[in-house]
Amino acid sequence: MKKEEKEAIYNLLKTADSYACGYVRKPFQNTSVFSDDEVEEVVVEQVSSQTTEPVSHGMSISELNAKILRCTRCQLARTRNNVVPGQGVENPLVLVVGEGPGYDEDIQGMPFVGKAGKLLDKMLAAIQLDRNQNCYIANIVKCRPPNNRDPLPEEQAACISFLEAQIHILKPKMILCMGRISGQKLLNTDTPVGQLRGSFHDYNGIPLLVTYHPSALLRNESLKRPAWEDLKLFKRKLDQITATTN
Ligand code: URA
Repeated sequence: MKKEEKEAIYNLLKTADSYACGYVRKPFQNTSVFSDDEVEEVVVEQVSSQTTEPVSHGMSISELNAKILRCTRCQLARTRNNVVPGQGVENPLVLVVGEGPGYDEDIQGMPFVGKAGKLLDKMLAAIQLDRNQNCYIANIVKCRPPNNRDPLPEEQAACISFLEAQIHILKPKMILCMGRISGQKLLNTDTPVGQLRGSFHDYNGIPLLVTYHPSALLRNESLKRPAWEDLKLFKRKLDQITATTN
């Protein structure tokens, strides 16, 4: 079979899969999986729906997360112990977005359960937020990058449509991005975290604030004060929003 024919069949299957999973992705662009001498155990998709509105067709968060659990879109599928789709309530006020699972998260299949996670829980509690009551916690990538390296651009691109679909389903009132990677990816920018933090951004009509990642606070105490200022700013806005919607 010619490469073009294989490609056409594969694209047809991708479209069918997008409809089956309930949201639309950009067309598949990586043709390397069609090369006969590059047989991949894991199909590496180079997808970014950064400009595509995900349509979840009534899918629930648990149905979406079940799909995420089966994902083999990128090379992180080869080294993970567990996929970490996210954790929280189904109708959250706030979506908290981290970078990607670390060692503990990969072992337990839950986001932010290690040392940084304990600090995150304290930061959230300081502004009356709790993953079991009014928040949902997710990451840019759902599988652990080996040795806790930053997720590569192609890994982020392969995974971002899952987070977009989660946002579409959960409809949080506000988004809190923990650290550079999540802020830059959701806002589609290279601006440093020190410039992104401190004021609100708009994510498809949802107010989004970037602050320092709890791991950065554990490494550098001097970031705690600006992070606390961010949290207070976030809480003020959240109180305004909940006052007008209640
Ligand atoms: N750091 C993150 O960004 N996410 C996690 O889930 C854990 C640590």
